[in-house]
Amino acid sequence: MSDPFEKMVADARTVFEASASKPLRDAWAGLSLPQIRADLIERLSAAGIEEAGSDTRFLLAHVLAPASYADAVADPALCSWQQMSWLADLAWQRLDRRPLSQVLGSQPFWTLDLQVTEDVLTPRADSETLVELVLEKCGPAVANLADLGTGSGALLLALLSERTQWTGTGVDISAAALDVAGQNARRCGLDDRAHFVEGSWGAALAPESVDILVSNPPYIRTDVWRELAPEVRRFEPRRALDGGPDGLRDYRALLADAVRIVRPGGLVAVEIGYDQGEVVADLFDQAGLVETGVKRDLAGHDRVVFGAVVSTNG
Ligand code: GLN
Repeated sequence: MSDPFEKMVADARTVFEASASKPLRDAWAGLSLPQIRADLIERLSAAGIEEAGSDTRFLLAHVLAPASYADAVADPALCSWQQMSWLADLAWQRLDRRPLSQVLGSQPFWTLDLQVTEDVLTPRADSETLVELVLEKCGPAVANLADLGTGSGALLLALLSERTQWTGTGVDISAAALDVAGQNARRCGLDDRAHFVEGSWGAALAPESVDILVSNPPYIRTDVWRELAPEVRRFEPRRALDGGPDGLRDYRALLADAVRIVRPGGLVAVEIGYDQGEVVADLFDQAGLVETGVKRDLAGHDRVVFGAVVSTNG
């Protein structure tokens, strides 16, 4: 075993044999691609995953690309054992209930494709309601945006992608999240206008330095968080989800900062849980924000509360 190449092959074989997904690879040995597909759907369903069919489609598309499933069925040469072994590794993680976004490593949001790890909340379609609201309220003129608790950078990057004159700062208390957000800014070609700062809510930002403040803070009540699907509870960062006993802890903290860092006349817009419209709008009023309103998502649920900082000239 002195030959370095032989050693490399032996090492690779050891890793391969020891990897957790070996039972799946063994079960799939000798099966055709459609048989593997059917088996995977069955296993994901048995693991309690409702989207078993569509998850299987995404996992297969991921490992077969650039060939399609149909291509690979028609021509088995397009489907290698390395790809099926990779599929087994990914499927194994999904069977453990890791979210599909983390298994695939990315998630579409708005028009972007964002990198996702377990250090950030997976961007959700609901949050696009907040992007729409800001675009409705604010035209293309130069503006400085702040996204507090930016996570993957989803809100900040979606808005900067639509408003080419804007600059923005993503703030997060997690250095690991900022790492992901920074990579996403580069991936989207927006790193010349997106900056990132580690800190708690608005603490790191200067008074009246922001024209538009957005945030998707944690807003789930702790008792509700405990009952969430394993995908969310076990694999997504708790501090991006758990808003304390009443779910409102972080709105109080960030609204206190908002009135300090947003300039008079500026906009504040936050994502909320479907049943928090009234109570968060009250918090906006109490913080002294004006022209407060609530916007619904596509499912018809209250999803965004917005308001303006009082203008100095009334
Ligand atoms: N909408 C998310 C969920 O239901 C919660 C996001 C948040 O707390 N900011 O999982």
